[in-house]
Amino acid sequence: MNSATPQKPPSPWQDIPWEKWNDWRWQLSNRLNTVEDFRDVINLTESEIAGLSAPDHFRVDVTPYFASLMDADDPDCPVRKQIIPTAAELTPFQAEMADSLSEDAHSPVPGLVHRYPDRVLMLVTTQCASYCRYCTRSRIVGDSSATFSRSAHDAQIDYIARTPQVRDVLLSGGDPLTIPQRVLEDLLSRLRAIPHVEIIRIGSRVPVFMPQRVTPDLVEMLRQFHPLWLNVHFNHPKEITPDAAAGLARLADAGIPLGNQSVLLAGVNDCPHIMRELVHKLVMNRVRPYYLYQCDLVHGAGHFRTPVAVGLEIMEALRGHTSGYAVPTYVIDAPGGGGKIPVAPNYLISQSADRVVVRNYEGYMSAYTQPPEYARHDPATCDACRRRRGEAGQEGVSALLDGRQLAIQPEGFHETHQRLTKVDWGEVEEELARAAE
Ligand SMILES: *Cc1c(COP(=O)(O)O)cnc(C)c1O
Repeated sequence: MNSATPQKPPSPWQDIPWEKWNDWRWQLSNRLNTVEDFRDVINLTESEIAGLSAPDHFRVDVTPYFASLMDADDPDCPVRKQIIPTAAELTPFQAEMADSLSEDAHSPVPGLVHRYPDRVLMLVTTQCASYCRYCTRSRIVGDSSATFSRSAHDAQIDYIARTPQVRDVLLSGGDPLTIPQRVLEDLLSRLRAIPHVEIIRIGSRVPVFMPQRVTPDLVEMLRQFHPLWLNVHFNHPKEITPDAAAGLARLADAGIPLGNQSVLLAGVNDCPHIMRELVHKLVMNRVRPYYLYQCDLVHGAGHFRTPVAVGLEIMEALRGHTSGYAVPTYVIDAPGGGGKIPVAPNYLISQSADRVVVRNYEGYMSAYTQPPEYARHDPATCDACRRRRGEAGQEGVSALLDGRQLAIQPEGFHETHQRLTKVDWGEVEEELARAAE
């Protein structure tokens, strides 16, 4: 127990019994969602009133616990901005898309996204404890009449069971920690029963929005399914309260490795110093910063977007300046379904046949001399390489490097280059294949 924990809920909930405040069921059923609800807690701006009053806005629902972290008088409060809509949310921007990651196109069955060769994303619910205004899945999340049913879960698990290359299943949504515990337990035990499923991961913002839900009982249930990993979603140091820290400690004590995925948000965490404070607090709570996401091209999120340069500047301020454990990977989830692509400052400055020139975070530059002779690793005689051959269909650039393939061509490449002379592309392909042998 943290000695700073008050024995009374914060204002205006001071008359609610402490036991109720600490009960996640009470938190869920007393969420705030209207202008009237929020008026009791903060001084709403015109823009927030417009956002909350707009017809068809993306669902608003905020646990009293998370609402109590808002600054009542500061519309720029980083907590407030993440959960209260403003007029800016209603304005479409030029590049926006409904499904910017093309998840629907990658779904062999509803709610199961199979984008990468060996892992899948399983959307188990459309419900969350509270709703982030910049939600990348706002097209499906929040609708309580359209969540995933038992039969949808059956179809998802059936696909995983008959797809042996899937060794990693990531439960997300919506928020998996909001579904009834026995339903979650049932899903986890059915996944654990599939021999080729090596690891199970849960992505959840419950430890941020409603740490009361991280009960000893929930944690006891989760720990039966090891190796089980959990990624949380903190964006700002203000969210790491004593309550949140206690929830994280229960999870870590149960041997659940914790990661954090932040979204880079204008006016919330687009500052190297705020971000450094966040990652330090995370590491102190045994949470490894995993990804820092560039904000997706999703409706409602336009005013949260930053240039990519802002993210690079943050990465420049982290790498080398602090523990490697505290440095996340900055990624752009590529529009059109390209998946997560890491972007980083350049540390490799130049190279010759003998040397590479690298620079560190201080700008110190030096030459690393490469070995004059190298008994090259030979994929043709390496057993591990031979076992991998012929797998997947998503070998990508690594196939260019080890010689299995000589080129990756954009669609329509042949037609475009059929200019003056009639080229027999079949012959060219054969030649490329011969050269690659
Ligand atoms: C993010 C994501 C994953 C997991 O990616 P990792 O880089 O392994 O964390 C898997 N599938 C989809 C569709 C995703 O968006």
